[in-house]
Amino acid sequence: MRRVAFYTLGCKVNAYDTAYMQSLFEQNGYQTVDFEQHADIVVVNTCTVTAVADKKSRAAIRRAAKTGKVIAVGCLAQRAANELLSIEGVGAVIGTDQRGRIIEIAESLLNGESAVNLTHDLKGCGFEPMRLSGSGEKTRGVIKIQEGCDCFCSYCIIPYVRGRSRSRRFADIVEEARRMASEGVKEIVLTGIHIASFQDSGYDLGDLIKALDGCGARLRLGSIEPGVLGGDFIKKAASAKNLCPHFHLSLQSGSETVLKRMNRPYTPAAYMEFLCMLRDSFDNPAVTTDIIAGFPAETDFEHQETMAFVQKAAFSRIHVFPYSPRAGTRAYAMSPRVPKDLSRQRTMDLIRLGENLERRFIESLIGKQAVVIFEEPSKDFEGLMEGYSERYIRVASEAEKNEIKTVTLESIRGLTVYGQ
Ligand code: SF4
Repeated sequence: MRRVAFYTLGCKVNAYDTAYMQSLFEQNGYQTVDFEQHADIVVVNTCTVTAVADKKSRAAIRRAAKTGKVIAVGCLAQRAANELLSIEGVGAVIGTDQRGRIIEIAESLLNGESAVNLTHDLKGCGFEPMRLSGSGEKTRGVIKIQEGCDCFCSYCIIPYVRGRSRSRRFADIVEEARRMASEGVKEIVLTGIHIASFQDSGYDLGDLIKALDGCGARLRLGSIEPGVLGGDFIKKAASAKNLCPHFHLSLQSGSETVLKRMNRPYTPAAYMEFLCMLRDSFDNPAVTTDIIAGFPAETDFEHQETMAFVQKAAFSRIHVFPYSPRAGTRAYAMSPRVPKDLSRQRTMDLIRLGENLERRFIESLIGKQAVVIFEEPSKDFEGLMEGYSERYIRVASEAEKNEIKTVTLESIRGLTVYGQ
């Protein structure tokens, strides 16, 4: 039997794309083995969101080339196809479209045919139809509902490597969610590059959430973008009983002038207004976010504006990234660049603030009930299982793997809560 291995970098969208390619290989008689084990084909699904992601992707490709013939897929592959093809052991580059041809490509490589580059200009390309064959033993399933982005934030390379926004068919998503739930998946995460722009046959993201109410699993949204969604979305979302009260609402900066330079389509005031509407419509929702520290020309004053905004917004968790220049974006040419030390210091300021806010949010939940899907042994509470609650906090308790259970939150260790 032929063997295939996978290595995935980057976001949940990439994870879904890998799961799709893995199911194609398995349907065609390949056995999946661990990365590092010998395989006939090794698929590396790359990421290019930051310089660090580029470096990790190249390192993974070099490691993969020691164990089998490499097919490089994903965002860095789309952006630097010829460079990756020149690495010894790389037999094909697929990029961010035509992943459905991976078996044909693998077979031709194994038959000794020469290297292939399937990347192409993504202009006008549609949503690549993908369907996973089964959910296996998984408790949490991911469904990709959208691809690409039209926003062109000034620091972001994604629209250049993933193409314009396009959506998966509404009916396909509903069908896949029902099938996953019937196979035992207890939580479905809707993911995409810019899911707020989902549109199919006149249906938007709010309509999709409504249609998935009662699908048999609870529902969680991937990252949503402010400035696109409004009160109508919140009304539809709040009517769905199975939607987790957890929203990852991408902020990037709390300074109006920085947001302008970033070409983000909202002001801090508009963001706060949307946040308040969410809090009015859901019971104590968890609101998490992403922030970029040290964007070009960011002053101390602008950094303090972001710190003050984060404090006021009382996020339940923040992910902070130091700005990473990406050639080909508008921000790449912006000056002056914030010195690395200062950018690191601002990153640390925000991380510390985020940890305090996270602790405060968790403390506010003590004594309350949480519905948790237990997925793995706890690191903080020995002998217990751990998983995420509907508000995306880590909870440990006496439970079986893959069990869904309601617990009362009692005490905190690190950032994990013990639930009885
Ligand atoms: S919304 Fe902005 S940051 Fe997000 S993928 Fe699109 S261009 Fe990039």
